[in-house]
Amino acid sequence: MTAICPVFRFAPSPNGYLHLGHAYSALLNFDLARQAGGRLLLRIEDIDITRCRPDFEQAIYEDLEWLGMAWETPVRRQSDHLGAYVAASDRLAAMGLLYPSFESRAEIARLVAGEEAKGPWPRDPDGAPIYPGTAKSLSAGEVAALKHAGAPMALRLDMAAAIRHVGALTWQERGSGPDGETGEVAVHPEAWGDVILARKEVPTSYHLSVVIDDALQGVTDVVRGQDLFWSTSVHRLLQALLGLPAPVYRHHALLRDETGTKLAKSLASTGLRDLRAQGVTPADVRRLVGLSPRP
Ligand code: GLU
Repeated sequence: MTAICPVFRFAPSPNGYLHLGHAYSALLNFDLARQAGGRLLLRIEDIDITRCRPDFEQAIYEDLEWLGMAWETPVRRQSDHLGAYVAASDRLAAMGLLYPSFESRAEIARLVAGEEAKGPWPRDPDGAPIYPGTAKSLSAGEVAALKHAGAPMALRLDMAAAIRHVGALTWQERGSGPDGETGEVAVHPEAWGDVILARKEVPTSYHLSVVIDDALQGVTDVVRGQDLFWSTSVHRLLQALLGLPAPVYRHHALLRDETGTKLAKSLASTGLRDLRAQGVTPADVRRLVGLSPRP
């Protein structure tokens, strides 16, 4: 039997400067890949055309190099591979699992407010109200008219149909979820409702591209923050629908600032560039995020 070489990846989005939370995730991937004698990939997740910027991408390379990290090249940049994501959504569409919706965010908020007036309305694991499924009942003529009128369009996964298609699923968790979930974790993609997999302006989404890329790049170990723990339900579902292998997952706790708030790019005080300018060293960063000194 040939031993499988583990493949890890760090997959930041260039929509801001990296902070200590990113440093923790990146260095953890780096350390685990080294300990396992595995490979480390860096992937630039830049499909959000309104927020991602080339200067932030450049800053990611600089900051990670400063931390002493090394990764394989060429680096996969998601915006260069839209065709791969379109092919995947075409397959899901051919399976009858996607439907177009045309509401603006404001219209969806109004629809949800209408539902909430009648009683409690479910929210997804990130706290956003789930989509009420309104567009599912549009006729072919209405869809054609809305497309013609240039309405904002998104392709949504028909979650109930997708779950019927694959049945019960689990994933292997080597870290833990927000409530300590670990080991074999049962997926709950229904908690997200009919998620958007592609939009007219950008023919993919975080969920779709991450699943396609992890498979195309042969990623065996996904190490990322606990904020993405329940997204893994959607990722396992898409892997099963598209016949893709399932990596093992290790979700790590998020670093919090002294007030207990999750570190965000907006908190400039923890930005790696600022820390560097203040004379903080890469060894200090390892200590600050709770990692042992580099072996
Ligand atoms: N690009 C995502 C982020 O920056 C991470 C995706 C992942 O690790 O699956 O939050």
